[in-house]
Amino acid sequence: MSPPHDHQHCIDTAIETAASLCAEQGMRFTPIRRRVLALVWGGHQPVGAYGILDALKAAYPRAAPPTVYRALDFLIGLGLIHRIESMNAYVGCTHPAERHSGQFLICSQCRAAVELDDPNIAQAVRRGAQRMGFEARHQMIEITGLCPDCRDAPQP
Ligand SMILES: [Zn+2]
Ligand SMILES: [Zn+2]
Ligand SMILES: [Zn+2]
Repeated sequence: MSPPHDHQHCIDTAIETAASLCAEQGMRFTPIRRRVLALVWGGHQPVGAYGILDALKAAYPRAAPPTVYRALDFLIGLGLIHRIESMNAYVGCTHPAERHSGQFLICSQCRAAVELDDPNIAQAVRRGAQRMGFEARHQMIEITGLCPDCRDAPQP
């Protein structure tokens, strides 16, 4: 689901947005946080914490799991990345400045994850929960299937 594009541009945009969001909120965008964000944005496929740790070690040989998890928590807190529970992995958010609850279309073949982010769905879920006396606070809907590229690709 990621047609050939200048992915470096995706990474640069994500880093720029993150830097200005941190500045706005008075948070420090440390080199490690920046590096971890760039690694999460390595592609449009979600990446696991240990994959990030391995790559981080190239620049920070003493990086340990807590280093990565602290940076990931920070980025999630600012809405810069999302956690995909079903894959136990993380993916960059394309519009972190707006508050939104995620709906992800996840390709089971190439693992690309794309945000659907339909406010009507989020509202329908909230209403449905309300009818059952439940106060929904966080929702993340993960829909698996085939992305356009994989649908069109000849089956082996
Ligand atoms: Zn890209
Ligand atoms: Zn998002
Ligand atoms: Zn695919």
